Amino acid sequence: MLEIVIASRNPGKVKEIERIMEGLPVRWLSFRDILGLPDPEETGSTFRENALIKAGAVMESAGKPALADDSGLEVDALGGAPGVRSARYAGGHGDDRENVRRLLRELEGMPPERRTARFVCRVALLFPDGRCLEAEGVCEGSISAAPRGEGGFGYDPVFVPRGYDRTFAELTPEEKDSLSHRGRALAALRDMLALELSSE
Ligand code: IMP
Repeated sequence: MLEIVIASRNPGKVKEIERIMEGLPVRWLSFRDILGLPDPEETGSTFRENALIKAGAVMESAGKPALADDSGLEVDALGGAPGVRSARYAGGHGDDRENVRRLLRELEGMPPERRTARFVCRVALLFPDGRCLEAEGVCEGSISAAPRGEGGFGYDPVFVPRGYDRTFAELTPEEKDSLSHRGRALAALRDMLALELSSE
């Protein structure tokens, strides 16, 4: 069976990717299965560049196909910030609680109609033979006044997708996957990969 390495150290993301890609004839590996995989610096200025950097580094090190995603939150009133800096918005990498706190502080007093935002996810799957599959997903919404809900990770407790009154953290995993940026990007990639596998 084809083995593909998920190039992410974020357990929340790994879980989402495995869930959405379930059913393909692929054995998914991650940092849990292969020790010593690189964790390159995300030096790109776009989600696409960072996804390619991460997938490329892990593909070369493992000698196996690697799937990476780069994602983040773009808030209109903040000129698109935190964007590619979403994971380290408050300083330390991946401090979800502090990141949310900083975001709410920046938007303090801002009325609901000015709190529009979107999650963006770019995925890249690189093969050692040079093949490359890429896809992007976007989910529009807005930032709530206060955190709500226990599910998900990152900014989920303050992101309300358009057309809903619950935050991502208040949705079931299946509901989140059906409309999230990562769900959409991975669904597109899943179709491309299924086609690729059927022509092998
Ligand atoms: P990176 O893609 O690992 O560089 O980090 C993306 C960051 O964006 C995460 O650490 C979160 O802060 C945020 N993020 C991306 N996707 C989601 C999501 O689905 N829910 C909540 N936060 C997210």
